[in-house]
Amino acid sequence: MDSAIPFDNSYARLPSRFYAFQHPVPVKKPLLVKINRELLENLGLYWEMFFPQVWGEILSGNRVSEGAEPLAMAYAGHQFGHFVPQLGDGRAILLGEIVDKNGLRRDIQLKGSGPTPFSRNGDGRAALGPVLREYILGEAMHALGIPATRSLAVVLTGEEVLREKRFPGAVLTRVGLSHIRVGTFEFFAAKQDHKALRILAEYTMNRHFPEMTMEKEGPVGLLRAVMEQQASLVAAWMQVGFIHGVMNTDNCALSGETIDFGPCAFMDAYDPMKVFSSIDQAGRYAYARQPQMAHWNLRRFAESLLPLFSDEELEAANAVLGAFPDAFQRHWLSGMGQKLGFLKNMEGDEGRIQSLLKLMHANGADFTLSFRKLCDIAEDPARVSGFTALFREPEACGPWLGDWLHRLDAEDGDGVQRAAAMRKVNPLFIPRNHRVEEVIRAAEDRGDFQPFETLLSVLSRPFDLQPGFEKYAEPPQPHELVHRTFC
Ligand code: AMP
Ligand code: MG
Ligand code: MG
Repeated sequence: MDSAIPFDNSYARLPSRFYAFQHPVPVKKPLLVKINRELLENLGLYWEMFFPQVWGEILSGNRVSEGAEPLAMAYAGHQFGHFVPQLGDGRAILLGEIVDKNGLRRDIQLKGSGPTPFSRNGDGRAALGPVLREYILGEAMHALGIPATRSLAVVLTGEEVLREKRFPGAVLTRVGLSHIRVGTFEFFAAKQDHKALRILAEYTMNRHFPEMTMEKEGPVGLLRAVMEQQASLVAAWMQVGFIHGVMNTDNCALSGETIDFGPCAFMDAYDPMKVFSSIDQAGRYAYARQPQMAHWNLRRFAESLLPLFSDEELEAANAVLGAFPDAFQRHWLSGMGQKLGFLKNMEGDEGRIQSLLKLMHANGADFTLSFRKLCDIAEDPARVSGFTALFREPEACGPWLGDWLHRLDAEDGDGVQRAAAMRKVNPLFIPRNHRVEEVIRAAEDRGDFQPFETLLSVLSRPFDLQPGFEKYAEPPQPHELVHRTFC
């Protein structure tokens, strides 16, 4: 039963300096421990295509299936503000692309599949813990309605990898609309390879913004579309308390998807300067800095496009960059307004949102639950205690709540309807760090993947009440707090 995966590899048809053909390096003993059936079907594939063992071989890289043209993509990037002219896929391999059931072209990428010409001193491998974290976070983001690469499979390699200590090794299969990054453009810009830049810009436009053409909208059109997408993406992150952790330009995708879930995390208690990543010592990528950092990345993107701009286009490109703060603010305000049950934005709403955040910060209130509990108050103004109990000083909420309830009255709609709408944008379940760590430990220490499955199942319906699973909604107890995350 050797069916073929219908690969159609457009990136492999680009000039050879865009990548290095590279087969995955076989692992000792591949064991498939997770496959995402729903995503598999969405890709037009099905589980019965291969024996389970064969899936394990394909998704570890041990067997290169027909039609795959495995390659490591070349890219550069600014890491924590410093330019590195050559990074590239050091431990990832693009097996190929599949046009899915919705007609979308998706990259099928292995992560942890062995060294490539871009590995520098790295081993090309991935440890099980970060693979599980990325699997969970990608799927959780998707369920929250936030663009993100998705997770197709986890295969244990039967080998160990050396990090802070020895860990079991694993390969993650991730699926994305592409893996073109700001850093891909920077790679060719640094080499002054203008021809490649033009080809890449054209390819990116065709693939991600097919409604535009280079002749008509030009490179400024591409910049504008990417700018809008980043504004919307980062606003969505801010609205669920997500901290990416490593917003380097090589981790900023032109597809508008969240990519490269390294030391990322959702925060529990609201703190605008929150940082989890062990490698972000200066707090460059703290929660509240993310919009600024996205803007910074967009400037690097625009700079790499410079050789493609005419004088008039240069002026237009500057205007596009200048428009980012407003674009972000627009997305943020409308999203936060929805979280608070507003139908449209009114005078004073921004101040209202800011004073709630300030109150949450001063009182150590849980970000996710504060918004979720407001839904109950919108339904029945007498149900305040669930909300106020999240604040160190419950009485401090009174004036804000009074103003908010008054603001709700300014718009039509009854409480039940309003609460239902709010519950669709205020999740009850997020991938809390302490739960993610718990799942990783069970898998690492005991080879037990049941906690991972349970957490995934809960997170697949983040907005729904799930009786029996209440504990997954709860913030960590002080002894459960996770302070640092690793990639
Ligand atoms: P990241 O910080 O995960 O975005 O990775 C930055 C760069 O380091 C990319 O070029 C990665 O491919 C590379 N890299 C990260 N970990 C490894 C590893 N274990 N082996 C080889 N390259 C790696
Ligand atoms: Mg990366
Ligand atoms: Mg990474």
